[in-house]
Amino acid sequence: MAYPVVAIVGRPNVGKSTIFNNIVGDRISIVEDIPGVTRDRIYARAEWLTREFRMIDTGGIEMSDEPFMSEIKQQAEIAIDEADVIIFMVSGREGLTDADEQVAKILYRSDKPVVLAVNKVDNVEMRNDIFDFYALGFGDPFPISGTHKTGMGDLLDAIVAHFPSDADGQDDDTVRFSFIGRPNVGKSSLVNAMLGEDRVIVSDIAGTTRDAIDTKFTTPDGDEFTMVDTAGIRKRGKVYENTEKYSVMRAMRAIDDSNVVLMVLNAEEGIREQDKHVAGYAHEAGRAIIIVVNKWDTLEKDNHTMKDFEDLIRSEFQYLAYAPIVFVSAKTKQRLDKLPAMIKQVNDNHQRRIQSSTLNDVLMDALALNPAPNMNGKRLRVYYATQVTVQPPTFVVFVNDPELMHFSYERFLENQIRKAFDFTGTPIKIIKRART
Ligand code: GDP
Ligand code: GDP
Repeated sequence: MAYPVVAIVGRPNVGKSTIFNNIVGDRISIVEDIPGVTRDRIYARAEWLTREFRMIDTGGIEMSDEPFMSEIKQQAEIAIDEADVIIFMVSGREGLTDADEQVAKILYRSDKPVVLAVNKVDNVEMRNDIFDFYALGFGDPFPISGTHKTGMGDLLDAIVAHFPSDADGQDDDTVRFSFIGRPNVGKSSLVNAMLGEDRVIVSDIAGTTRDAIDTKFTTPDGDEFTMVDTAGIRKRGKVYENTEKYSVMRAMRAIDDSNVVLMVLNAEEGIREQDKHVAGYAHEAGRAIIIVVNKWDTLEKDNHTMKDFEDLIRSEFQYLAYAPIVFVSAKTKQRLDKLPAMIKQVNDNHQRRIQSSTLNDVLMDALALNPAPNMNGKRLRVYYATQVTVQPPTFVVFVNDPELMHFSYERFLENQIRKAFDFTGTPIKIIKRART
């Protein structure tokens, strides 16, 4: 949780997205393919040696109707606001430009560590051209080439050296949750309603290196919760905070920092692309998820309205079949009192551990009910299973040959596990392994 964040800034065309893709690589996700989830990459998981972190390509956050220079400046400000370490990228081909100097001026105003990368240094001779960039005042420039993938190791070493130490991570036992959704679905209204009079707000915890503010509160029943990134939801001052990509990026960060994600939809508007994008990220990140349909007061309802809306959600978000749905109104407060108990329940399920003996009883019953099929004349043998981790619950199933276990059989096993134990609201992972 709360991974270090690295942002790339620089004028257009220096190679920011090329380097972003080099660093992020092809991430393995727990689902192969989620239809409708577009992958425009502005925020993604990355890893160097043993450190996991997050990358932001500020160049991907476009401001509409902004003059060229002011867009670049805002992107630099986003990096300063969001990142623990900033990669300032310039191009060794074009040399130092006015625009580079403008970006540098903004970065001087911040005390975030800046690592200067000179891209497009495609051959050894070009290394002599990087000395001009000392003038920018960010110390040694790191020559790299996105095309040839050279210089990346030294650059990443320098970046990781600036990360806060592992020990700085939060250790709290409260349930961490966040409201996620498009602008205007009603997140701030829900936050305010939940933090209403009958909640004791314990503290506002200032984020360590960022401006993310979490809010801890206790319900009348004595349950402790931490609402993640409440400030990010509430404050709306800067121009870029209204752009869609920025809000997607903020949502992804809040998801990373939460155990339970409350995915807010607007009953008035139905489901949009951006909803799917963010939901897909939450699912892949393995978070517990509750689907909250807000503004329920605005619909003319009859006996079918709720069922129809539920069907729509189930068909648009097939991979979220495990997520409970709740229809609420921040305005009338309808059903808001159900949220704390639901959050607590899915959080418990997200941490549920099943004893191996109990798990294997369920597995044997499943095998009896629906024996492992033959494939190309070869028979799948399922020996036993064990839970290896929680958040999300992850099971290793030992078989004779993982190739023989078809996706549909895997899903059958998942369904049997879900029937036997309460995993409502949480994804579960099944890893197939050959018994040695
Ligand atoms: P961005 O606008 O900063 O995100 O830049 P892009 O990643 O889109 O790259 C701009 C152009 O530079 C593309 O045509 C890339 O193929 C090219 N490019 C990126 N890295 C290198 C490199 O290391 N060497 C050369 N010669 N071209 C590169
Ligand atoms: P956010 O951008 O997701 O934080 O959305 P806000 O909380 O700012 O709400 C956007 C607009 O929707 C505001 O005008 C709210 O008053 C309104 N709104 C929020 N929740 C409800 C609701 O449950 N019912 C109705 N009718 N309006 C709502």
